[in-house]
Amino acid sequence: RQQRYRSLRAVPAKTRDGAAIGLQMNAGLLVDLPQLDESGAEGIGLFRTELQFMVASTMPRAGDQERLYRAVIEAAGDKPVTFRTLDVGGDKLLPYLAHGPEQNPALGYRAMRLALDRPGLLRTQLRALLKAASGRKVKIMFPMITDLAEIDAARSLIDRELRHLERFGHEPPKDLQLGAMLEVPSLLYQLDPLMGMLDFVSIGSNDLFQFFFAVDRGNANVATRYDDLSVPFLRALRDVALSGERHGVPVSLCGEMAGRPLSAMALIGLGFRSISMAPPSIGPVKAMLLELDAQKLRAELAALLDDPGEAGSARSFLKDFAERHR
Ligand code: PEP
Ligand code: MG
Repeated sequence: RQQRYRSLRAVPAKTRDGAAIGLQMNAGLLVDLPQLDESGAEGIGLFRTELQFMVASTMPRAGDQERLYRAVIEAAGDKPVTFRTLDVGGDKLLPYLAHGPEQNPALGYRAMRLALDRPGLLRTQLRALLKAASGRKVKIMFPMITDLAEIDAARSLIDRELRHLERFGHEPPKDLQLGAMLEVPSLLYQLDPLMGMLDFVSIGSNDLFQFFFAVDRGNANVATRYDDLSVPFLRALRDVALSGERHGVPVSLCGEMAGRPLSAMALIGLGFRSISMAPPSIGPVKAMLLELDAQKLRAELAALLDDPGEAGSARSFLKDFAERHR
């Protein structure tokens, strides 16, 4: 099987009926980079910048951040890289950063909430990213966006750093795209203005699932109680994909479900044309989609999701579809 996946590395990721699907990989450290070639990923759809901070015993200096980002961009060559700004707090604590005690850390002082209150930290990181991407293409996305004002605040920090770099004679990135992670359900009810503000959106389904069902993603007693292939959750994901289509804004998904072939199949049926996953999942997901009739799945899945009385899981339908089309 491993052999078969390896042989698929250079095969274009296209469904049987011709839909091209962008398969990207998630990464976070230098050691992940060789996987870019080995897996056949089209790019890095999620670079988790907090990992460099989590493995360090003191705050990484600006120069160390810039060096890492430059190494990633160089290793990727022509392939696109999406850097996510610091997503700390919650379950990702930094020993050298004071995190006060919290009753509900997942709902607490984390990601952009913390970064916008401590702009020194975020500005240092943005400056390192923009310098590393000098003259190159780069995508930057913000985690845990909850309110649209946070996007404006982040954008003004970027603009400020761009002006700063210009003043000091640094060449800016050749192409800079800004995106947000959609992982808090509040955004589901403001999709039109959200799409209007961004170049791309990436769904963080791990957190979106956690907040959608109010279920701790790390607590084994409850985390498996609800299904990420349940009809209500799939409806939410589809709303985002369709809104992106309407606005011409690329929508991707980078949570763990993207790497499970059955879930990845569901995502393609919902209209996703780009997903990002752990590198070892790319082979199995590609093997699945080469056999898939995406149009047919889309129609059958729509019939299920559009039935207002349907509230259970789509898992058995999806398994059955996969069986029928073997
Ligand atoms: C997610 O929430 O789905 C995600 C990709 O981010 P992380 O797992 O790092 O929270
Ligand atoms: Mg997340």
